[in-house]
Amino acid sequence: MKPFGYVRARSTEDAVHHFLSLPDARFLGGGTNLVDLMKLGVEAPGTLVDVSGLPLDTVSELPGGGLRIGATVRNSDLAAHPAVRRDLPVLAQALLSGASGQLRNMATTGGNLLQRTRCPYFQDTGQPCNKREPGSGCGALDGVNRDHAVLGHSAHCVATHPSDMAVALAALDAEIELVGPGGERKVPVADFHRLPGDRPQQDTVIRPGELITSVVVPASSGGMPSAYRKARDRSSYAFALVSVAAVLAVGDDGLIRHARLCFGGVAHKPWRAVTAEALLVGAPAGEDTYLRAAEAELAQAAPLSGNAFKVRLARRLAVDTLGRLADRG
Ligand SMILES: Cc1cc2nc3c(=O)[nH]c(=O)nc-3n(C[C@H](O)[C@H](O)[C@H](O)COP(=O)(O)OP(=O)(O)OC[C@H]3O[C@@H](n4cnc5c(N)ncnc54)[C@H](O)[C@@H]3O)c2cc1C
Ligand code: SF4
Repeated sequence: MKPFGYVRARSTEDAVHHFLSLPDARFLGGGTNLVDLMKLGVEAPGTLVDVSGLPLDTVSELPGGGLRIGATVRNSDLAAHPAVRRDLPVLAQALLSGASGQLRNMATTGGNLLQRTRCPYFQDTGQPCNKREPGSGCGALDGVNRDHAVLGHSAHCVATHPSDMAVALAALDAEIELVGPGGERKVPVADFHRLPGDRPQQDTVIRPGELITSVVVPASSGGMPSAYRKARDRSSYAFALVSVAAVLAVGDDGLIRHARLCFGGVAHKPWRAVTAEALLVGAPAGEDTYLRAAEAELAQAAPLSGNAFKVRLARRLAVDTLGRLADRG
């Protein structure tokens, strides 16, 4: 491993200052992704600015409903929070489907959102990868691409985004709060991660020196039937082949009043299914409606040589999850 410096940030201002003034600085949350990548030689920061001790470790209920989740709240603590378990089962389930108990005890909300793809070519410095080394090519495009994207990919990168939590937060219309050299700003989770285009090296819209301080989940979907379902090769300790985060509310007249649907494991970002949502709202609850909505969304899919199964899996998982939620509602 290359030598690197380490400083512990005392405040958010201190963290941003260190990031800007120290050579090749990176923020350090729980370290469960960044330190692994340093061991693999994929990341080589000059200095780690440890933000895990900042006083951003609380989940607070907002006056008008909704939650503010601090960036250093650990994934285990967030999944166990009474308001999350009560009002946002989709978020609790997504968190608990990720990694392992030990990893969730370390992983932070900010670090989870910024974890990097699990594409094996990205993690192997002997392989070509435009994300790790722009211009070197994409090993997965004509290589082993069973786990890769079926939506929104480009000739430059076909990787998927790995976070389960981000898929649930995108379905819940959550917003990320950031502070950086240019001041404070908010970005919807659904707009935070990018499609690869011709700049796959840039995973998100975060700017240099910006620190995630919190995530705000609005009241809008709270308390409604919601669920996270994840299809994977093993029942634990495995990333999603396809996942679905869904919120569904059906009125007494049998018509769908509120629908949120987001896919994970299929694109370079959580794939918010806006086409499907538009077809769901106002339609009668039932399998025909769910199937029509899922098929309309997935009509855009362009599978690679090894992953056509993902399109069928996504359709079935969405239809089944929506059906279960409607039954529960
Ligand atoms: C074996 C294994 C299995 C896993 N399985 C899953 C899974 O099934 N599902 C899943 O979702 N995840 C899974 N993970 C990933 C795990 O969830 C992430 O490693 C973890 O969430 C990252 O959080 P962290 O705090 O440790 O981030 P770190 O490793 O500390 O940081 C990750 C990135 O975020 C940046 N960063 C950290 N905090 C901030 C901040 N506040 N503001 C700005 N930048 C910041 C860092 O600079 C770094 O670039 C798995 C990990 C492992 C090792
Ligand atoms: S899919 Fe993306 S991350 Fe994977 S090798 Fe290609 S460019 Fe790299």
